[in-house]
Amino acid sequence: MTLIDGGAEGNGCALGVAAAPATIGDCTALARARLPAFEADLLAGEALGVSRATLQAFPERAVEDAAHTQLERWLERRAAGEPVAYILRRQGFWGLDLEVTPEALIPRPDTETLVAAALPLIRPSDRVLDVGTGTGAIALAIAKERPGAAVTATDIDPRCVALCRRNACRLGLDVRTVVADCLDGVDGRFHAIISNPPYVAADDPHLRRGDLRSEPRLALVGGDDGLAFFRRLIPDARAHLLAGGWLALEHGCGQGNAVRRLLGEHGFAEASTHLDIEDRPRATVARLGCGESEA
Ligand code: GLN
Repeated sequence: MTLIDGGAEGNGCALGVAAAPATIGDCTALARARLPAFEADLLAGEALGVSRATLQAFPERAVEDAAHTQLERWLERRAAGEPVAYILRRQGFWGLDLEVTPEALIPRPDTETLVAAALPLIRPSDRVLDVGTGTGAIALAIAKERPGAAVTATDIDPRCVALCRRNACRLGLDVRTVVADCLDGVDGRFHAIISNPPYVAADDPHLRRGDLRSEPRLALVGGDDGLAFFRRLIPDARAHLLAGGWLALEHGCGQGNAVRRLLGEHGFAEASTHLDIEDRPRATVARLGCGESEA
């Protein structure tokens, strides 16, 4: 608990002395002067250990120095461009509170589009594979929605596999994990393979803006045109899907046609592309034709 009950201790903290905010209201104002209101309240609430409602309802309450110092440090890191999710080490996804570290992509609403597109294709006891899981976001969302399914998650980075396991353990969800580069070293066949692969083109200017500057390039960049991972995963998936199995892929909003073409070239049919919350094509699902499954 970082609050000091009552206002007495705070009264002596003259703002003039070290310009140190002494109350909840001072902390909120400090944060809001530097950040958009939503981010400001999020960081202030976490630093002070109170809800957003408390921030608004009790601005006169005094706070401990340590909490104020914590907030100042976080505001400096944010000002230097560090994503809020890496500062707080958590991010909500599909109603799950996930631990996030800088080795993993920050889970995004875009990927909730992928989960929503894939879920109707997954039956209660299917075998499901999430390729390049990062925090474990996709695998954990599927495990939550299909508790009887056997969900496996891979990542090339052992630190991400460990992160996914920590998230699974904390959330009480059952996910098997494998360290693997794409599908190399993955055993068995699945009813569905899902992936949010690296798909940003190497020279995309977005890589130099916002949160993407801090996220792992390995999880973002898919070669010169952003499609390199799809060229590898789509053909390789044939040997890891059961006949009639589904492949569900997140992709860039301008990559839908290219991804559908690749899927068609490798024996996938019934392709459908799904729009993200900004109405941009973001996820494509397709089914391996019967007789197309490779030995
Ligand atoms: N959706 C991310 C972005 O463009 C990219 C994620 C990815 O490459 N898988 O910001």
